[in-house]
Amino acid sequence: MLTREIYTCHRERAIKYLSKAGVILSEREKELLEVAEYGLGMVEKIGLQLVVYINTDRYCAKELVLFPSQTCPEHRHPPVGDDPGKQETFRCRWGMVYLYVVGEPTPCPHALPPLERRNFFTVWHEIILQPGDQYTIPPDTLHWFQAGPEGAVVSEFSSPSRDSMDIYTDPCIQADMPRRV
Ligand code: ZN
Repeated sequence: MLTREIYTCHRERAIKYLSKAGVILSEREKELLEVAEYGLGMVEKIGLQLVVYINTDRYCAKELVLFPSQTCPEHRHPPVGDDPGKQETFRCRWGMVYLYVVGEPTPCPHALPPLERRNFFTVWHEIILQPGDQYTIPPDTLHWFQAGPEGAVVSEFSSPSRDSMDIYTDPCIQADMPRRV
């Protein structure tokens, strides 16, 4: 569960990472920073910090912050009505991120998901993103990512984000949990 303590601590820490990456935020954006805890009680390992710049019915832009080796769990963005599902582009701004997508599994991947949830990470085609690298995830396809040893700041550009519709491989994760307390 996302407690006030966890939220405050992760928010402050994420603001420092964004500053290191040269990202300037308004006070309002800092206030609205989100912490995805995913309900697993292991937010240092499986969790994500986000700043949403804009999310309309036409497009979305966010900044994602991952602490060292922190992991965004495997999920996909399914079709909703006439929309084929969210298409997203990740661009690494600072640090390094190991991104896993559908495709030929990479032998000896760099990332290691927490062992207790390991069964819920099923796609293993590795893409390494360093500052200046970007990669686009097609709609409705599984993906997950883990920060390198220093953490990562990643910009996300996408079609509309409907986080509550996201489908996670791990059945213990609910998509619509609060991200601020
Ligand atoms: Zn996604």
